[in-house]
Amino acid sequence: MLEDKNQQRTSLADLGEFGLIQHLTENVKITHKSTLKGIGDDAAVLDFKKKQVLVTTDLLIEGIHFDLSYMPLKHLGYKAVMVNLSDIYAMNGRATQITVSIAVSNRFPLEAIEELYAGIHLACESYQIDLVGGDTTSSTKGLLISITAIGEIEKKDIVYRNGAKPNDLLVVTGDLGVAYLGLQVLEREKQVFQANPNAQPDLENYTYLVERQLKPEARKDIPSLLKELDVKPTSMIDISDGLSSEIIHLCTQSKVGCNLFEDKIPLDQQVISTCEEFKMDSTTVALSGGEDYELLFTVDTADFPKIKANPNLTVIGHMTDKNEGMNLITRANQKIALTAQGWNALLKKE
Ligand code: ADP
Ligand code: MG
Repeated sequence: MLEDKNQQRTSLADLGEFGLIQHLTENVKITHKSTLKGIGDDAAVLDFKKKQVLVTTDLLIEGIHFDLSYMPLKHLGYKAVMVNLSDIYAMNGRATQITVSIAVSNRFPLEAIEELYAGIHLACESYQIDLVGGDTTSSTKGLLISITAIGEIEKKDIVYRNGAKPNDLLVVTGDLGVAYLGLQVLEREKQVFQANPNAQPDLENYTYLVERQLKPEARKDIPSLLKELDVKPTSMIDISDGLSSEIIHLCTQSKVGCNLFEDKIPLDQQVISTCEEFKMDSTTVALSGGEDYELLFTVDTADFPKIKANPNLTVIGHMTDKNEGMNLITRANQKIALTAQGWNALLKKE
């Protein structure tokens, strides 16, 4: 995991807004030809020649989207970038630039904002992204981060949510339910810590879960993998709110139904064992737990031979005629209608 250092406390007021921007962005390097002008003027200048431009934005608010008592700021910076890149990859695109806007209360010293930016810079380096601008302001309470990601794509490669056809195969990358369980583990440790501040967190059996909650990776590899395999999905979406809700988006926008097979949902061993320990149903966790940032897409059945042996991809169902509805086919071969409960479904159980 990422290291966190936060001992010194330099007041942001001493630095001033321009000093802070200068300090946070002095080492930013530009790597994309499409970035003609990055930070430093009234606007960045980008040139995508004949490519189509993808733009997506997300706003994260302290207390709503993240809790700094177990989310180190460096991880938060990294994750805030991932959330946005994931949306570019979900269009089958290549992410190239981001802008980062922050509002900070005077509760945060410079060192805290440095940590946040260490995570942002690390994400930019690892995913080859140019940081080309942003905005910096103060807030009366808490921290807000808004990131906009920009990407490029050739027109013929764009994959929307609305292109799925009956009989198309439903495919997911990686495995599911992980980040949500990571959050459960962290919440539990937080409660233990609040009851006994000397308790040491015991996260050894949950490393994969916690890592995926605190340091998710967007699936940059998938658009290039699909190109290599010569597969263009008919529809695609990223999994931020849970499998069920994303399937419903694809079906609704494509005007199709689907059958999702419970026994096909990819689950890591750590997810299975932790679900047993927490007395949670692993299928419910995969369907309704959020923040996995895997990609969900549909392909024509003719493409099945190209994807079937790939360890990154799992066929979990198929699309149907709209009037057949959106269904989960259980291990016991029962048909249950999928509902988009997202996190609420899991919260209600507690
Ligand atoms: P303006 O007055 O035009 O809003 P600013 O002084 O806010 O300009 O910003 C100066 C430059 O620094 C601009 O290029 C802007 O995009 C960039 N910038 C401002 N805040 C941030 C930030 N938090 N992260 C990255 N770049 C930033
Ligand atoms: Mg500004």
